[in-house]
Amino acid sequence: MNEVKRPRKPLLFYYCLVLILLLLFNWFILPQAAQSQIKDTDYGTFMTMTEKGQVDSVEIQQHQILFKEKGDDQTIYRTGIVDDPQLVSRLHENGVKFTSEIVQEASPFMTLLLSWVLPLVVFIGLGSWLSRRMMNKAGGANSMMFGMGKSNAKVYVKSSEGIRFDDVAGEDEAKESLSEIVDYLHDPSKYEQIGASMPKGVLLVGPPGTGKTMLAKAVAGEAEVPFFSMSGSEFVEMFVGMGASKVRDLFKQAKEKAPCIVFIDEIDAVGKKREGNFSSNDEREQTLNQLLTEMDGFEGNTGVVILAATNRPESLDPALTRPGRFDRRVPVELPDLIGREEILKVHAKKIKYDPEVDFKQIARMASGASGAELANIVNEAALRAVRENRPFASQSDFEESIEVVIAGYQKKNAILTDKEKWTVSYHEIGHALVAAKQTHSAPVQKITIIPRTSGALGYTMQVEQDNHYLMTKTELENQIATLCGGRAAEEVVFGEVSTGASNDIERATKLARSMVTQYGMSEDFDMVAMANVKNAYLGGDTALDCSEETQTKIDTEVVEIVRKQHEKAAQILLENREKLEELAKHLYQKETITGEEFMQILNA
Ligand code: ADP
Ligand code: ZN
Repeated sequence: MNEVKRPRKPLLFYYCLVLILLLLFNWFILPQAAQSQIKDTDYGTFMTMTEKGQVDSVEIQQHQILFKEKGDDQTIYRTGIVDDPQLVSRLHENGVKFTSEIVQEASPFMTLLLSWVLPLVVFIGLGSWLSRRMMNKAGGANSMMFGMGKSNAKVYVKSSEGIRFDDVAGEDEAKESLSEIVDYLHDPSKYEQIGASMPKGVLLVGPPGTGKTMLAKAVAGEAEVPFFSMSGSEFVEMFVGMGASKVRDLFKQAKEKAPCIVFIDEIDAVGKKREGNFSSNDEREQTLNQLLTEMDGFEGNTGVVILAATNRPESLDPALTRPGRFDRRVPVELPDLIGREEILKVHAKKIKYDPEVDFKQIARMASGASGAELANIVNEAALRAVRENRPFASQSDFEESIEVVIAGYQKKNAILTDKEKWTVSYHEIGHALVAAKQTHSAPVQKITIIPRTSGALGYTMQVEQDNHYLMTKTELENQIATLCGGRAAEEVVFGEVSTGASNDIERATKLARSMVTQYGMSEDFDMVAMANVKNAYLGGDTALDCSEETQTKIDTEVVEIVRKQHEKAAQILLENREKLEELAKHLYQKETITGEEFMQILNA
């Protein structure tokens, strides 16, 4: 799309130029102009000229004498003071005029006028002229340099190369929901005839990077209407009232351009719940109030549709989400297996790749990745192909780039001691072996002990075979056991534990805790929720919601669950001690082994 940018630079440039010119004029040209006419002469010449009657007027100063010749008004002569008591009478005799205004010094008033007021007037005049000119050019859609409190909304003009629904892979439900709006923008009269009014606002909610911005642009692209985009944080200004005036301005522009789409990204920055506590932010509340007023102010069928995106819907002020404002909510979730495959394919169109590449497999490996991460994976694959001097990206480029996006780059110069390398090998095989031996766990895709920039010394990549929407209690327990497998292997082999399991411990604990507090999978608490999810789309942190007594019990239960699985993992490893040794040795030598190699050795 053609984005009209504000020509900020030239304007500033002109201002600076004018300022510099004025200063130069003041400092150098003016004083020189005043002094250029003065001519020095000696006292003798002055005396001779006086006696010949050539001197017209004279000014006797403390340290010098200035005089003018008859018939020459331009040149001022200057000579020094000599102790000459008869000077005055002699001058008088020769009819010389005495004066004190030979050098017409500018009055203080004139000085002030010339050096300060005039430049300022020129400066401001030029500024307003320039900005007016630019306003006309941009059709009033852009803000100006002095336009504080104007919205910075970028206006996207109608364009045939805009983003379309086809560019957004997956997210079919969201697209379906939004296509009604596209239809409305195409032909509002159809809706008006029946008396239906479109929702004024649509809230896109979902985790970061799932394509909310893209969807909003696609709606504008499909409907072929202008698209105003602004981030919620841009409304929040330093001065109270500024944000509110930005909101006003944005809506004014939008109404002029209707039908159009206004997109407010990260609306939670302005739309947070208003609270009567000390930390309340006047500016933000005013901005929010203005937003609410504006949304009430225009009729449902003016053709302005407001889309907003957030990943923290629960923190929004209820006033924003009530009917008549953002009354429609469109969830934009992380893509499932098919969605991931489609997103990979959409982005792979932009690069050259081997036709053999199996996108389904890559989508499987990248479970949990968002659209933005998948786009990044494709780009990393292309970059890797360039680094390795290949004309196109291969399957291995894609696989490696998943690891780069998930775990960071390979750390080339991290030197593990031999003992550490053995520990990491056993640890990773421990995870993989426990996973493989529990029938319900996902099979292993790849195991590696090459350190990564993220700090992982090695890792075991598991792959989901199919989409998973439900997890049974057993599956959750098996996952915990798999996480405990690494530490268990260290214990079984070395009789000693290391710090390498900290991430496993964190994840196992989190799983066990949600089993108890959220999923009702504990012995004691039946179907009672002990925790609330705080922000479902950003990591899903929870806050405990129970008495202290219960908290103690929860802790005991969590420990019990993890302990049981830890023991189970150790048991599995003890039963397969020989395989553990064999596989660890193989991994130690090769540093990276695939899931197939692993299964071959295991089943041999
Ligand atoms: P959000 O606004 O949800 O944080 P964006 O819309 O800014 O996410 O998406 C960021 C980038 O991720 C997009 O520019 C696009 O390249 C990629 N992306 C995300 N979701 C999709 C999708 N469903 N299809 C294609 N590309 C996507
Ligand atoms: Zn581990």
